[in-house]
Amino acid sequence: MKRISILGVPVDNCTRRGAVERIEQLLRSGMQHMVATPNPEMILAARKDADFLRILQSASLNIPDGTGVVWAARHQKQTLQERVTGTDVMIDLCSLKHGYRIFLLGAMEGVAQAAKEKLMAMNPNLHIVGTFAGSPNVSDEQAIVEYINRTQAQLLFVAYGAPQQERWIARNLAKMPTVNVAMGVGGALDFIAGAQVRAPVSWQKAGFECAWRLLHEPQRWRRIWNAVIVFPLTVLFAR
Ligand code: UDP
Repeated sequence: MKRISILGVPVDNCTRRGAVERIEQLLRSGMQHMVATPNPEMILAARKDADFLRILQSASLNIPDGTGVVWAARHQKQTLQERVTGTDVMIDLCSLKHGYRIFLLGAMEGVAQAAKEKLMAMNPNLHIVGTFAGSPNVSDEQAIVEYINRTQAQLLFVAYGAPQQERWIARNLAKMPTVNVAMGVGGALDFIAGAQVRAPVSWQKAGFECAWRLLHEPQRWRRIWNAVIVFPLTVLFAR
């Protein structure tokens, strides 16, 4: 899978299906891997934060989670075949008959449990061994790590928002020896649980998911401004 660089952040040229297949390989590799979903806001954040950039550079798979990222590749005369969202990849992984032990970490109290119920309704054989809201604070992580270790989870989805979730994974992955793949998934648990309504597929395909989120969560205006104005300008004027 070809890896390109957008403003210094590596992004893999994968399709939705290719991402799922790659993650299945990583799960079987016997090693530990982080999967990230760089979107325009994350790429801008990494420009100002060397530690976050280093974490994204260390990820085994970085899926292009944003129309802006695909556009930026095209502007650089490189190819990213399609936008692939973390939520879609998570849903696909949870729809497979693979039997991996899955843990859902993060989101507001009760959301991970509600997401578990939705995922189990889609795939009754799914093996979700634990859910926990917790917090991304360093002071809480030891207890969370011990809890995850007791479940012997192999696939860990972390929903603390970027960059906290990537930092959390970078600090803790090695302390959870049964976890083969840890993936930061942002608002995915909210979407799956139905706590947030996702844009209709037609809006997603047209690249308007950002506009949908602005309508439903106007408090995100600064993040959306960064994604649709600051990021493209930064790409256009990057040397
Ligand atoms: N979150 C959390 N604890 C925190 C901060 C955030 O559990 O201290 C959760 C929040 O409830 C949401 C997710 O992290 O489920 C972040 O969602 P957001 O929509 O901001 O992520 P994005 O998809 O934009 O990366």
